[in-house]
Amino acid sequence: MDDALFSAREKLKDITPLKRDCGRVCGSRCCRSCEGEETGMLLFPGEEKLYREKENWKILDTAGGKIVICPGTCDRDERPLACRIFPLLPVIRKDCIRAVVDLRARAVCPLARQGIRAMDPAFADAVREAGEILMADEAQRRMVEMLTAQQDELRQLREKLGGSHV
Ligand code: SF4
Ligand code: SF4
Repeated sequence: MDDALFSAREKLKDITPLKRDCGRVCGSRCCRSCEGEETGMLLFPGEEKLYREKENWKILDTAGGKIVICPGTCDRDERPLACRIFPLLPVIRKDCIRAVVDLRARAVCPLARQGIRAMDPAFADAVREAGEILMADEAQRRMVEMLTAQQDELRQLREKLGGSHV
């Protein structure tokens, strides 16, 4: 694992969206797959090495990148970066990194629907700082650029559909 990825994961090792366990409120909705459907988490470049040999974890190559399917429960220190930063994302705005609510998270996460102000500011700061760390590495920077472009497309689609359908 490269230094930037390691440091970004470390940044979010102990910090969560709320000071209390938000999973107790929603029943850990972001960790549950719908019946008959495997949903995975997008892996950052190089992160797949951590999960390839792990029992009950599965890596899939998809058009959108490598994703990992988890067993449905995990220890905090084995959590992929995508889970550590959920439901926020670091995106590029005017040459700076900002932490924003992941528009895709709104469908599952009640906190995402409430907005970033409902979350612990220290969590939002940690996501932004993790993004800044990732930007120092070329492969990770491309990933942040891709995530930013995806959010921009989703936002445009949402605006076209009238605001709340995406
Ligand atoms: S869905 Fe949102 S509120 Fe629920 S556990 Fe996941 S991050 Fe927390
Ligand atoms: S890796 Fe852990 S935090 Fe992420 S979805 Fe699976 S059980 Fe939830």
